[in-house]
Amino acid sequence: MLGFVARLGAVTLIAIGMSLALTFGLAAFFGFTPDANTVIIAAACPFVISLTLGAYLQRQSDRLRLLNDDLRKAHARLSYLARHDGLTGVLNHAGFYDAIESVRRRGGALLLVDADHFKTVNDEHGHDAGDRALQALAQAMTAAAGPGALLGRVGGEEFAIYLPANGAAEAAVIAERVRLAVAATVVELPAGAATTLTVSVGGATDDPAHPFAETFRDADACLYEAKRAGRNRSILPVAA
Ligand code: GH3
Ligand code: MG
Ligand code: MG
Repeated sequence: MLGFVARLGAVTLIAIGMSLALTFGLAAFFGFTPDANTVIIAAACPFVISLTLGAYLQRQSDRLRLLNDDLRKAHARLSYLARHDGLTGVLNHAGFYDAIESVRRRGGALLLVDADHFKTVNDEHGHDAGDRALQALAQAMTAAAGPGALLGRVGGEEFAIYLPANGAAEAAVIAERVRLAVAATVVELPAGAATTLTVSVGGATDDPAHPFAETFRDADACLYEAKRAGRNRSILPVAA
């Protein structure tokens, strides 16, 4: 505000100065001496015009600044929504893959987590209950995976967890922690009902020298194995 008053004052003084210079210049050119009234008018006109226009421009500039702030916030919100899953709040497929490129530079391990018999949750309790279960699942996995982990929903009831700088043994421990945390979670459903669910986990260590698709394929093969072996288990052959 102080800056605005100083700027407006400076502009007004310049306008008055120019108006007076012009008045005296023209008077000299036409060969007369301006009287007091002329000098007052020559100073008052730019004073009033400059103040009015200045206030108007300042209001416009304030409104533009507010619009700009709103636009910046909307942009941040949109870019957040583009990268996060609206249901569970974890990264979505695109967000996970975007983030993975920088996160995997020093290597790590990947866990693929798939809810077991999830279709029966929907069939028995309804789709809304299934949604609620997915939210509880994501919450339990986020807590169990730890703060350094990158968690994304890469399919309907399938999640990926990237564990930066973790080796096979640490990844196997975290995979079990995730599995047990989910199994211990009671999902509160509408109308006082509740359900529990389990997950199968497949994992692989990630070598950044190789394409990420290879790691994903290895983890997916282990996940398939975990399903085939009876579900509610984690398999990371690299840990053996
Ligand atoms: P499996 O143990 O072999 O993985 O069995 P499954 O039933 O979990 O696997 P299947 O692929 O047969 O079914 C996945 C189900 O997940 C079917 C689909 O309706 C449900 N699903 C996927 N996304 C959502 C979602 O966003 N909300 C709800 N409520 N259900 C979902
Ligand atoms: Mg499933
Ligand atoms: Mg699945």
